Amino acid sequence: MGRITTLRGFRDIYGEEWEKFWKVYEIFREVLDLFNFTWIETPVLERLELFVRSVGEETDIVQKQMFAFKDRGGRDVVMRPEGTAGVVRAFIEHGMAPPKKLAYFGPMFRAERPQRGRYRQFYQIGAEFIGYSGYLSDVEGIWSAYLPLKTLGIDVEVLVNTLGGAETKRRYSRALREYLTDRDDLCDDCKRRRETNPLRVLDCKIDGPRLNPPDILDFTTDEERENFQKTLEKLKEMGVPVRRDPNLVRGLDYYTGVVFEIKAKELEAAQSTVLAGGRYDNLVSDLGGKPTPAFGWAAGVDRIVLVYGGGIERRPLYFVVRTSEELKEYAFFVLNKLREEGKRADMLYEARSLRAQMRYANRVGARWVVIVGEEEYGKGMYRLKDMETGEESLVPL
Ligand code: ATP
Ligand code: MG
Repeated sequence: MGRITTLRGFRDIYGEEWEKFWKVYEIFREVLDLFNFTWIETPVLERLELFVRSVGEETDIVQKQMFAFKDRGGRDVVMRPEGTAGVVRAFIEHGMAPPKKLAYFGPMFRAERPQRGRYRQFYQIGAEFIGYSGYLSDVEGIWSAYLPLKTLGIDVEVLVNTLGGAETKRRYSRALREYLTDRDDLCDDCKRRRETNPLRVLDCKIDGPRLNPPDILDFTTDEERENFQKTLEKLKEMGVPVRRDPNLVRGLDYYTGVVFEIKAKELEAAQSTVLAGGRYDNLVSDLGGKPTPAFGWAAGVDRIVLVYGGGIERRPLYFVVRTSEELKEYAFFVLNKLREEGKRADMLYEARSLRAQMRYANRVGARWVVIVGEEEYGKGMYRLKDMETGEESLVPL
């Protein structure tokens, strides 16, 4: 019979690579705990309308990347393409009181062209600051994103920009559309975006023409501009490698105010962004909640794992071997004793020669081999062999 394989763009993650996912999660969890986050798990399957209303009808995600279908009841549902919309929905649905810091970790789904660092099922760790405003909140938001990556030892650069408030964003969009009007060199998607969502043209992933668009800082109010500049300065003061990128706009509609991306220097340009986020002051009310300012980010764990150079620490392995099959029960007893003591321990159950068991112990990287023979059994002991030095000693149970 033919073999069954994974779907295109989907993959199995196992061994050391999956261990690194947990390592990355662990570091983010530790660091976010310092910021007083609590964790939330929302469903993978949500109503289509949630993403149309939050991410935006005219975004790439909603237009062409969603795994959307009708469920058995004929409802339009979607495998979530991102985490913020679901967390904000949950915040409203459960009447949570702001301010509230909520973090999540889980798989997201987007039907994109698969390549290194771009998959159809990928993992995000995200953080949402709901009910937070002001420039220090922007600083805290970006700092909370940078710190875990720094702790993981990843060499990054933080790019920031501002979209201003809703009014500024509108005026800038208009100016941008005008500027783009007679550019025939845009890609076909961008020609459409120019009309529907001109900001998105600046986020084009195709190597397009060099644009020299008007600067949004010429459209912001004095207060928006000052807040943005204070945010930049404070981050520099705190030692964050930050730089303004005037063309940074982000691909999701719900952003207003400061937006940012963190790039890993080691990764190829098109997939170098390992984390992205910004302020979204209108999303809570757009989804039916009370007007609530908010800030959030999401880290792409698959990409972080690609550049994570650190190791995975595991406890040293104790491998129990026996000199004859009659001692199997005793070996099993010793094995579980070791586990009770908090040691990582294992053994084989099939009948194998001592030599074969030793070979196996070597292959799986045992640090210690625990030998049980007639003599050890008689004394209620085991023989411990140090696989690095070859030294042996008798240890009582
Ligand atoms: P990109 O510009 O790379 O398409 P994006 O703007 O669509 O990213 P966001 O929606 O902001 O990405 O998601 C935040 C992070 O999640 C990204 O910076 C990236 O690290 C990761 N990410 C997004 N899409 C994918 C994917 N298909 N595969 C792996 N990681 C992804
Ligand atoms: Mg994308």
